[in-house]
Amino acid sequence: MHGYIAPLRLRLDGDALVSNWRWLAGASGDAACGAAIKADGYGLGAVGVMRRLLRAGCRDFFVSNWGEAAAVEPLLEEGVGLSVLHGVREEDMRQALGSRARPILCTPLQAARWRAAGGGACDLMVDTGMNRLGLDWRGDLAAATGGLEIATLLSHLASADEDVALNATQRQRFVGIRNAVAAQRYSLANSAGICLGRDYHFDLTRPGLALYGGIPRDQAAGHIRAVVQPQAQVLQRRRLIAGDSIGYNAIFTADRDHEVAILNLGYADGYLRGFSGKGAARHEGERMPLLGRVSMDLIAVDVSARPDVAEGDWMTIDYALPDAAAVSGLSQYELLTGLGARFDRVWE
Ligand SMILES: *Cc1c(COP(=O)(O)O)cnc(C)c1O
Repeated sequence: MHGYIAPLRLRLDGDALVSNWRWLAGASGDAACGAAIKADGYGLGAVGVMRRLLRAGCRDFFVSNWGEAAAVEPLLEEGVGLSVLHGVREEDMRQALGSRARPILCTPLQAARWRAAGGGACDLMVDTGMNRLGLDWRGDLAAATGGLEIATLLSHLASADEDVALNATQRQRFVGIRNAVAAQRYSLANSAGICLGRDYHFDLTRPGLALYGGIPRDQAAGHIRAVVQPQAQVLQRRRLIAGDSIGYNAIFTADRDHEVAILNLGYADGYLRGFSGKGAARHEGERMPLLGRVSMDLIAVDVSARPDVAEGDWMTIDYALPDAAAVSGLSQYELLTGLGARFDRVWE
């Protein structure tokens, strides 16, 4: 496929990515600001993201598993850390022991496994109320972590995007843990957690969503720039005559004549059917609505207003994350991580 130009592409704005990281780093105060690049950099491409953030000065990166770690480990430089959020399974031990990445140990068994192997520096996840991964904050953490050399001790906020009592509760528990378990650094906040203010920043923050243009809380609006713009090529331009329907199950029927562009984009690319009849695409800034249902590989756009849109042209899909989330019923996270493998990813 070398040299192949796909009929759909993601335009990725490297300046916006770096600008978002800088804003988050500033908003993190005295804490260092890392980057969550799991799920292939939230769908943008982890290598491209990490390269740009390294150049901007980011020194701490987070991936989910050792497959993701292997993909970016060649980029590691002196003084740069890569942490694996899901810790280390038995199956990962060989790779982990030979890797410059650190496991974030999540369970007593993982901690015992790492200690027994003499694995060296590690990170540790303590659960403070989300009840997902991590050692239970109520447990005997000193016993579970004895003999470990902990670089970063982490916990994760369940509802940092909301104003709920659980945020302060988790923070209080985290302070208690900090006083009980020695580590070089302590880290609690994701993108939304950064917006909760300095009490939540500790030594290191780890944004994901907001790096990529997501707005986790109102405080970030106006500061975070869009990074991702999906574009798709027009495969055919056709005329709908009043009375014609379009697409699967004929959910749209024309009550007048329409000009329609069929674009190379569909739900297999992460453009899910929640956009059916609601999404829009643009040509030279002019907004034109989707007609009918999103297919696996195709959508139809009403281009009646633009006689100049022709086969082979590119249209830009409306994908401002907060708006697209409201329209589609998907979360901003899903909108990013669902972007499929068929897009060319083009950094500019
Ligand atoms: C994904 C993740 C992050 C980043 O969260 P965002 O909400 O995308 O900023 C931070 N910490 C942990 C443990 C995560 O799993």
